[in-house]
Amino acid sequence: MAGGCALRRSRGAARRPNFCAVSEHYDLIVLGAGPAGEKGAAQAAYFGKRVCLVERAPKPGGAAVNTGTIPSKTLRETALYFSGLKQRGLYGIEYHVKPDITVSDFMYRERAVVDAEWKLIGENLTRHKITTLQGTARLLDGHTVEVSRYTDEPRRVTADFILVATGSHPLRPPEIPFDGEVVLDSDSLLTVPDIPSRLIVIGGGVIGCEYASTFAALGVHVTLLNARERLMTQLDGEVSEALRADMTRRLGVQVLLNAEVRNIRVEGDDRKVATVTLADGTSLAADCVLYSIGREGSTRGLGLETAGVRVNNRGFVLVDDRFCSTVPSVYAAGDVVGFPALASTSMEQARVAMCHAFDLKYKDRVSPVLPYGVWTVPEVAMVGETEESAREKRLSFECGKSSFRINPRGQIIGDLDGFVKLIFRRDDQALLGCSIVGDGACELIHIAAAVMSFEGTIDYFIQAVFNYPTLGDAFKYAAYDGLQRLAKRLSTNAGLPQVR
Ligand SMILES: Cc1cc2nc3c(=O)[nH]c(=O)nc-3n(C[C@H](O)[C@H](O)[C@H](O)COP(=O)(O)OP(=O)(O)OC[C@H]3O[C@@H](n4cnc5c(N)ncnc54)[C@H](O)[C@@H]3O)c2cc1C
Repeated sequence: MAGGCALRRSRGAARRPNFCAVSEHYDLIVLGAGPAGEKGAAQAAYFGKRVCLVERAPKPGGAAVNTGTIPSKTLRETALYFSGLKQRGLYGIEYHVKPDITVSDFMYRERAVVDAEWKLIGENLTRHKITTLQGTARLLDGHTVEVSRYTDEPRRVTADFILVATGSHPLRPPEIPFDGEVVLDSDSLLTVPDIPSRLIVIGGGVIGCEYASTFAALGVHVTLLNARERLMTQLDGEVSEALRADMTRRLGVQVLLNAEVRNIRVEGDDRKVATVTLADGTSLAADCVLYSIGREGSTRGLGLETAGVRVNNRGFVLVDDRFCSTVPSVYAAGDVVGFPALASTSMEQARVAMCHAFDLKYKDRVSPVLPYGVWTVPEVAMVGETEESAREKRLSFECGKSSFRINPRGQIIGDLDGFVKLIFRRDDQALLGCSIVGDGACELIHIAAAVMSFEGTIDYFIQAVFNYPTLGDAFKYAAYDGLQRLAKRLSTNAGLPQVR
């Protein structure tokens, strides 16, 4: 693991530059060098605190860099490139996957990006003079951490505060025959030596949908099994349905909803095949199965109970709104505290935790306006209310929608099925939420998030000048559409909006 060691090294440690042998007191010890650990450590160090960061893996970055966010997003870009999917037949060329694509084609770009990320994190830790220890950490009490590494004598470090940022890992129910070869979780999926020709994805959540569409874009025959009645139930219903329809039509993903898995069997010696049987008796065969249903906090063996830090039944640390645990000197942030379990929020939670611990008066909460991006094909993003959540809360609201089909930029890039959907309050037109499906959704959503953060109204979109031709211009037409619907409703005095 990269990073500067500002303290005295033992002889043994000098031969192993990644392990810095120290026995000293710090202002802060951080457990885990994922997004939460790195940013929490940097935040405290920036304000002059002496920080020690402990990471058990040889490289920093956690799930975000090593197994999750960055690899999956890079592979998505690679899949779009090799498939020519972005061209969508715009130049008279049919959409087809490069026929002899190999795993190394697939992994080449991923390695380059991950290497660059490791370097950036290392530089950040060095710049902030953060001491790094490689080893597995365990709390002995609210101020003391023991760090074990191979056969080395365990070391003890103490601090005024401890930040637990050990992340999460995929749930692996005992009845699922995980073998790291045919039946995989999201950590092992990207280690398969060959691209499967048939893949079954179990779980229609974010990770399941992202991988289903990425592999389908590569020409893999993908079946997506979802126990619920729609994909990603947190999404606006219309967006979820648009995603399902697009994945089916354009990528050929077979999406089975309300599909309950009864069992998974793996058979064959030379060429193993998995058979997934559903509750209705349907049997499906594939070369690989991705089981992607939920995650649990990485807190086992961490000594939290000994220190008095409470966790729930899924291993997530219980914290207050400043990310302080049940022990005042121990904070926790990121995936290890559960929902929303995103790299984006993990970093902010850690910064807020450190500001609170050291009374930095710089940032006192994580913004309540949380954008949410899903890197499926097509991209999907949302912030705030959806039509369903607004109706559930019995808000008095209206929707406004604009399709990329009537947007010149949408025509140029050939994304005709994308759209922007706004949810706003009827009486003052305050923006309550926004959902976007299509190219650039994960970037575009920040425009809506900014308006919501300043408690703005959809009048912002009416008054603003957008570059032309851009997808951002769709916000203006969604706002016009919303005003027209509102005017119509007022003139007919209709009741709550109906689902369209
Ligand atoms: C496939 C996939 C795609 C994703 N896509 C996105 C996305 O597009 N956008 C987004 O925002 N988020 C995404 N996420 C989620 C994101 O990766 C996580 O929210 C983020 O990594 C959490 O950061 P963290 O620092 O809390 O934990 P982690 O990144 O899990 O880091 C925890 C670190 O702690 C270390 N550790 C654990 N136990 C110990 C111990 N006892 N001692 C020392 N070190 C220890 C681990 O080795 C690890 O390095 C995705 C996740 C997956 C799996």
